Amino acid sequence: MAHEVPPLPYDYKALEPHIDEQTMHLHHDKHHQAYVNNLNGAIEKHSELAAKSVDDLLRNINSVPEDVRTVVRNNGGGHSNHSMFWAIMKPNGGGEPTGAIGEQIKKDFGSFEDFKKQFNEAAAKQFGSGWGWLIWDGKLKVITTANQDSPLMQGHFPILGNDVWEHAYYLKYQNRRPEYLAAWWNTVNWDEVNKRFAQAKK
Ligand code: MN
Repeated sequence: MAHEVPPLPYDYKALEPHIDEQTMHLHHDKHHQAYVNNLNGAIEKHSELAAKSVDDLLRNINSVPEDVRTVVRNNGGGHSNHSMFWAIMKPNGGGEPTGAIGEQIKKDFGSFEDFKKQFNEAAAKQFGSGWGWLIWDGKLKVITTANQDSPLMQGHFPILGNDVWEHAYYLKYQNRRPEYLAAWWNTVNWDEVNKRFAQAKK
């Protein structure tokens, strides 16, 4: 089975005004599709990879044949990261984190405000393209990765991540990445983040 871009679980304009409709079309229909196409192209050369999920490929990136490893890293990473990204957003999202993740954020960062500040500063400083992440490593931690690298490649399950590639914000926010980072919290689907937090702790 070839990998496929999951359909958006909401309308393209549903995240307005925080993320604009045109950005969502380009980001989901063009950028994510390109990662999937390139990943499928690499897998066609190695049929033994066809049965593996994209997350399994990333967890074991060093066992992917060398001739396609970089393609799988970049494009499998792109596929996994973006699939997570669409799922953890929703229309009328945001607000204070709920449930277990809300409690753990208070425990590990002091408050939601302190967590957001640390996350936004790390993501703002990520030079060039990459992602800001919340991961579980015995406690919650904020990390960043370059390009489409996934925390899965470091043995960590991504609980929440924000895309700081310019394609994620440039049409609306131009060079104002911190403004995008601040607005993005209004889209977060905390129910979905709680599901991922439970999975991360397994
Ligand atoms: Mn992206």
